[in-house]
Amino acid sequence: MRVLIVEDEPNLGRQLRATLEGAGYAVDLATDGEEGHFLGSTETYDAIILDLGLPEIDGLTVLDRWRKEGRTAPVLVLTARDSWSDKVAGLDAGADDYVAKPFQTEELIARLRALIRRASGNASAELIAGDIRLDTRSGKVTKAGEPVKLTAQEYKLLSYLIHHKGKVVSRTELIEHIYDQDFDRDSNTIEVFVTRIRKKLGSDVITTIRGLGYSLDEPGAPAPVA
Ligand code: CA
Repeated sequence: MRVLIVEDEPNLGRQLRATLEGAGYAVDLATDGEEGHFLGSTETYDAIILDLGLPEIDGLTVLDRWRKEGRTAPVLVLTARDSWSDKVAGLDAGADDYVAKPFQTEELIARLRALIRRASGNASAELIAGDIRLDTRSGKVTKAGEPVKLTAQEYKLLSYLIHHKGKVVSRTELIEHIYDQDFDRDSNTIEVFVTRIRKKLGSDVITTIRGLGYSLDEPGAPAPVA
């Protein structure tokens, strides 16, 4: 899952990025409204954390522009403490949730997880496919109850596929959602990660759909129709 942070306060931005990367997200950080708007308009994100008070273009204007451009990624706005008018304006401009500053990072991450889950149609924090379980809170993966250790990239790939269980996901879509902007995006590495995940979780966990991409399905479910 890939997240954009738009935050002009350097320490907060860096700290958020480090925390989210530690939690298994690919993260891009923009430090003003113009850069933030550009990234949100040109790159693909599973969720966006948007500060409202930003240099160049303020957060509400950025959000309003994205929505008018048809960008639908869930947006969590960071508002000034106790500013009910900020919250109302943010929600009216198309925000999906808000957190008031100062906030507990754990709360922000929990809300972010919920936004990403809901946007992909998953109600529960634990995602299940057959005997495989991925807990989005702890980042732990088990197969038949046994813990399985995945590398950060393997986890990102599995997490994206299990969030979109039963759908065909193209290689390009995977690249867009598991790498940040600065990552050297070699599409061949996707196949390598898929192979490694199959070794750890079973050869049938991810299906290759020739020419189209990959899908992770509930065992016994009919093959996805592309
Ligand atoms: Ca700010």
